[in-house]
Amino acid sequence: CGIIGFTGILDAKEVLTEGLKELEYRGYDSAGISFFGENKILTIKSEGKVACLCEKVKAADTEEATCGIGHTRWATHGGVSDTNSHPHTFGQVTLIHNGIIENYKELEEELAKKGKYPVSQTDSEIAAMVIDDYYVGNPVKALKSAIKKLQGAYAFCIMFADQPEVIYAIRNGSPLVATSTVEGSIIASDMVALIKYSKDYFVLPEHHIARLTKDEIIVTNMEHQVVTPPMLHVNWDV
Ligand code: GLU
Repeated sequence: CGIIGFTGILDAKEVLTEGLKELEYRGYDSAGISFFGENKILTIKSEGKVACLCEKVKAADTEEATCGIGHTRWATHGGVSDTNSHPHTFGQVTLIHNGIIENYKELEEELAKKGKYPVSQTDSEIAAMVIDDYYVGNPVKALKSAIKKLQGAYAFCIMFADQPEVIYAIRNGSPLVATSTVEGSIIASDMVALIKYSKDYFVLPEHHIARLTKDEIIVTNMEHQVVTPPMLHVNWDV
């Protein structure tokens, strides 16, 4: 329901939880974040308010992180629980998802034939599993193959365990906006989460892959060509 991703020079846990608070108005039932810390991807998630998540993040007292993704969930498939909250990790893939994967049951059956089973009841974890199934070190290739299989509306932000400090994003139907500043690169489902960092942003075109690093965001189309989406500007005061 709400999505945010950040990689840069700021405290990522702070950027993500603050961003999730901005996105709270959309309504949600659980929240979670994942970040690169202590040489691996760590995930903290919780049913309930962003404030509950913040308590857990504080209690976990992990070392500072500079890259991560955060999500507020509005459950569509699978009940409201810590396990069903996003991010979902399967193999090398950690993912947040807005939307619905219509054919997830079918995909789940295909994966079961390979001995791969989800731990949650969500359609979103199946998307993580499909991407991981195609992943052999090349995120763009894996995403391209996976979206041929995934039917429905989605916005994904994804981290791969062996690609530290990098976030990938792709969407179909559900919105994603992004911006890059001297402090880092940030992506979200709604401009309200970005406005603190920049009034200039762009809309990620559908079926394009955004690769966020602390210095820049590279957008490529399905033919691997680099695309420069038009920059937009908001005039709101903050
Ligand atoms: N369909 C997903 C789920 O139920 C994502 C819902 C959302 O957009 O928050 O977990």
